[in-house]
This record gives sequence, C-alpha cells and structure tokens, in this order.
Amino acid sequence: MNTEEMVGVYPFLRRALKGYFHQGTSLQSFLESNETNIKQSVNQLTSITNGEEATFSTRSDDRVIDYIVTKIVLTYIRDYFISARYAIKERNALYENLKREKEPRILKLVSQELNVEIEKQDERYLIPISSFLKNAVVFNDKDLKLCNQELRDGNVIASQNVLAKILREAFYRKYMQEVNEVVEFPPEVDKILRPSVAEIISRGQEIRQERANLGPLNEKSFPPCLAEIIDQMKKGANVSHAGRFFLVTFLHRIGLPNDEILKYFGEVPDFAEKVTKYQIEHITGTGRGREYSVPSCQTLGSLGLCYKERDPLCASGKVSHPLGFYRTRNLGNRSIGKGGSVDRVDKSRNPQKQ
Ligand code: SF4
Repeated sequence: MNTEEMVGVYPFLRRALKGYFHQGTSLQSFLESNETNIKQSVNQLTSITNGEEATFSTRSDDRVIDYIVTKIVLTYIRDYFISARYAIKERNALYENLKREKEPRILKLVSQELNVEIEKQDERYLIPISSFLKNAVVFNDKDLKLCNQELRDGNVIASQNVLAKILREAFYRKYMQEVNEVVEFPPEVDKILRPSVAEIISRGQEIRQERANLGPLNEKSFPPCLAEIIDQMKKGANVSHAGRFFLVTFLHRIGLPNDEILKYFGEVPDFAEKVTKYQIEHITGTGRGREYSVPSCQTLGSLGLCYKERDPLCASGKVSHPLGFYRTRNLGNRSIGKGGSVDRVDKSRNPQKQ
C-alpha cells in the first residue's frame, strides 16, 4: 500500500494532515477551499446523529479531506453526543480495516500514532499490559479480558484481532478527547463555520432536550427490573456485572450525577469506592470511556434480568425499553419518590423541568 492509499484507509495519521497543511496553509484557507466538504460533513453528521446509515468515501483524497473537515466541525460545535456517534462510526471502520491489515509496518505505524507500543512476534503482537488495560475497556467482550490473555514479561501476546480491538479503543479515546477540548477559533474561521453548522447544533440541542425529558427523579417510577437490582443491592446480595452495568447506565441517563450513583453501591459486599468510582466514570463516559447506552428490554430479558410479570405495563408487552417504562410512569406521576430530590446533571439545560 502506498502512502496515498494508506492515508485513505487511516485518515487520522499525521502524514494525512501534512498533505493538506503545507507550510503557510491556514485553517481559514483550508476551509475556504473545501466549503462543499463542510456542507457534506454536516449532512453526514446529521444522518449519523439520527441513526441513519452513512458511509465514508472510498476515494482516498475525499476520505482524508472529509475526515479533517469533520474533525474541525466537531471541535467547533463541541457536542459530546454527536461527536460520540461519529467517533463510533470511525472506530468501527478502523477495526474492520485493522483486522484485515496485511502489512505489519502499517499496524506498527497506526499503533505509534495511537500511543500503543507494540512489537511483532511471529504471527502475534506484544502489547505492554499497561497499554492493554488502558484500552481494554469494552464491557462484555471476553477477547479483552486480561484473564483470557497469554502474558509474557509484562506484555500481552495478542492476536491481530485483539490488537485491532485495542487500537480501535485507543483511537476512540484519543478522538473524543481531542474534539471535546476547548479551542478558540479565530473570527475569520468562525465566520466560515457558523452558517453551515447551525442545523447540526440545533439537532444536538433537540437531543439533549429529549434526553432531559424524563421528568424529575422518581424511584417509584423505576421499572421492576431496576427495582429488583436496587433491592438486591440493599440486601447486600452480590449483583451480577450486567445488573450493575444496567443500573449505572440507567441512573446516568435519567440525570443522576456520578456521586449519587455511587451511593447505590454502598451496601454491595465487594464495594470498593475507588474501583466503583472508576467503573461508573467509565460507563457514563465522564472518565476516559464512552457513554454506554441503557440496555433494551430484549437484552435484559436475555440476561435473565427482566421481571415483566411484576408490573401490568411490562406484562402488556408495550414496553421495549426500561427508559420508555420510566418516561411513561414518571410523566404521569410527578411526585418525588422516596429517594428525594436529586440534582440533575442536565439541570442547566432544561431548567423548566426542575
Ligand atoms: S419489560 Fe423491560 S422494563 Fe419491564 S421489567 Fe422487563 S426489562 Fe424491565
């Protein structure tokens, strides 16, 4: 693969940027000469945000320009949800390419770019355990559990598939960190971007509004599956990992800050504040991880965590998501539950709901 082809497949490589930002090329002149791409990028972001299919260009130079422009747009709008949606698409595309990558030198180059040191050994790759652990943060993926790895001299001996998974997570973390940094754009750049991004900014606001539209915290409106987990935890029972994961995603999604979520874990037998705090930050995307979605009723059912027979609304078969249950119950019953009032994370965005 020559350099042009390589940057078309891995457009985040520094050498891709160098091709477009020669000495003296300003951000303003780059954007002025790629105005059409700004519009395309915003359209693509809107589609991705709406959950529609969106494909990346297969032409190397278009792919690189689109990648750069989209990154500029996301850094400009700094919307966590929209950038996460897009970063997941990039992350998945990267994984598909890496697991098929035939050239070890390219795997090495991509690893270097993502600050993961690797060494090839026969058909496998040595990854330092510290790098592995930092990036092996996907829940329910047995390929990424340290206990399933072969270890040697402080390294994980990884297959190409495991390496591809580690690199895709490293990419996601780096990308999210970069696009969510506060960057001051000069007025001339602001003038170019502002008119084009209005639509995607308003879509982001709509989504935040929808996400905040669950009503005030009310434990009485919790679905039976969640109530059971909380009950078990209060009794000091050892709740499964999947159950804890569901609890954290749900409480986060209805607006509880991490410190409030932590309180639910106080009674569990293996409670360790530091570790639990880290896990909560990871699942809610407030640490270095990404924000995980609340599992659907179907997923919870397959994990043996559904108790639909305990509530007529669930038993009616009309509920497909625990948040749907909560919304229906909560907006029909606005009294504050036994948990009392709790500060919403999104208070500032939706004050009328307080
Ligand atoms: S139907 Fe859904 S909301 Fe109701 S108990 Fe089962 S998983 Fe929970």
